[in-house]
Amino acid sequence: MAVDVDVLVIGAGACGLAAAIAAHDAGVSAAILEKMDRPGGNSSLSTGSVPAANSRFQREAGIKDDPETYVRDLMGIAKETDDIALVRRMAEVSAETVEWLVDDVGARLKLVTAYKHIGHSVPRLHAPVSRRGQDLVDDLLAAAERREIPVAVGNAVRDLIVEDGAVVGAVVENQGARSELRARKVILAVNGFAGNPELVRRFCPEIAGAQYFGALGSTGEAVIWGEKLGAGFANMQAYQGYAAVADPHGGLLSWTTIEKGGILVGEDGRRFGDESLGYSGYARVVLEHGQRAYAIFDQKIFDIAAQEEEFLELANYGGVKKAESPEALAAFYGLDADALAAEIAAYNAAASGSGADAQGRKDFGLGPLQAPYFIARVVPGLFHTQGGLRVDGDAHVLRPDGGRVPNLFAGGGAAAGISGRAGALGYASGNGLLSAIALGRLAALAAAREIQEETR
Ligand SMILES: Cc1cc2nc3c(=O)[nH]c(=O)nc-3n(C[C@H](O)[C@H](O)[C@H](O)COP(=O)(O)OP(=O)(O)OC[C@H]3O[C@@H](n4cnc5c(N)ncnc54)[C@H](O)[C@@H]3O)c2cc1C
Repeated sequence: MAVDVDVLVIGAGACGLAAAIAAHDAGVSAAILEKMDRPGGNSSLSTGSVPAANSRFQREAGIKDDPETYVRDLMGIAKETDDIALVRRMAEVSAETVEWLVDDVGARLKLVTAYKHIGHSVPRLHAPVSRRGQDLVDDLLAAAERREIPVAVGNAVRDLIVEDGAVVGAVVENQGARSELRARKVILAVNGFAGNPELVRRFCPEIAGAQYFGALGSTGEAVIWGEKLGAGFANMQAYQGYAAVADPHGGLLSWTTIEKGGILVGEDGRRFGDESLGYSGYARVVLEHGQRAYAIFDQKIFDIAAQEEEFLELANYGGVKKAESPEALAAFYGLDADALAAEIAAYNAAASGSGADAQGRKDFGLGPLQAPYFIARVVPGLFHTQGGLRVDGDAHVLRPDGGRVPNLFAGGGAAAGISGRAGALGYASGNGLLSAIALGRLAALAAAREIQEETR
């Protein structure tokens, strides 16, 4: 068969870049098509945090961890999943994936030991020091460039070419002109469908009213093409939300502000739930309460959050305001000052141990809150969807009966995730990038193996 490239990767986020690099290093040719004018996708917008259980970086830091503990942690918050085998596989390959990123790709990742993230019983996230996914993407792009892997931006794949049930290439559109590219294997690295309102309403209706805060390219082609091919899907109702997108700035208000003892109140100055549900799970609560909320925290919490570049930037751009009293805090946004003062007093009483919290919160971080106070206006956002194509442990796309769709692989947001079956509560930090990078790499290794066998 005449082909243009051995492995055609669709999408230049973390999954696609990892896949192309791994394919190249395994001895086959690879090329990436990216529909936007620049690579990176949601991976650029993320904090670049990739979890690994029993990485050598954890061992060097004296942290005991193993895949079984990680699976227990993941299922502890996900509760139920359509695909426990995928959860186990991701946990098992997590350490080799992060070590590959550092050793082979040259990614500048460091184990985060300052705090554990939501869903993890031990420090497990490996992230750029800046906590910017763009740094990780830049490292992946540099590695692709060193290998002379073509990353063709401005090239949207409009459809897959299928012959006798096998995927043999893709139809590509560039500035209105269509062409065909033929490949031995195709890897879908197009992320999920959070940027496709119709698919969000269909699969994740509870968060359909929230704004989408991810990259514009996540418009669900994996779902659309997969349905045409008769592929299977899993965990389609799962998504990652974020309860505190800075408004109107659009960046994240670090959840550290809440986790370390801050609260969220509505326009009426009152709290409306237990914030320890976490940033993803609490997004729906904010949405149901009335779209906007106000994060309140104090100086000691500010100082911790200020270790994060993005938080400092938000503060410098006026997204975080300071006042000496609850009344002055309320005045910034016209909140009910008496109600806010009463709410902070009640929360502080619970945080000091005199009585239960009215919202059921048990972890008060560094609470009670003390003057000076800070306030930031936030809205809930949808970051990405977690469900997608059913895949096996090597990222082959599967049909509902378990058979493979020949030549087709999927990873990252295009594939079923590891954040449970439904809703936002099952998302543990790093689930998105782990399945992007690990499945991208595994897909490429399997594709290369099969190509070498088939062309021998
Ligand atoms: C603000 C934010 C913070 C996050 N923080 C974290 C975190 O710290 N850790 C974590 O694990 N996860 C995090 N996530 C989730 C994480 O970013 C995603 O799960 C992950 O980046 C998905 O990687 P991907 O490669 O599958 O998709 P992407 O990085 O989105 O890449 C997909 C690419 O495919 C392209 N594409 C789509 N359709 C086509 C087409 N038809 N033709 C050609 N190209 C196409 C897109 O334009 C895009 O560039 C966060 C998400 C957001 C939005």
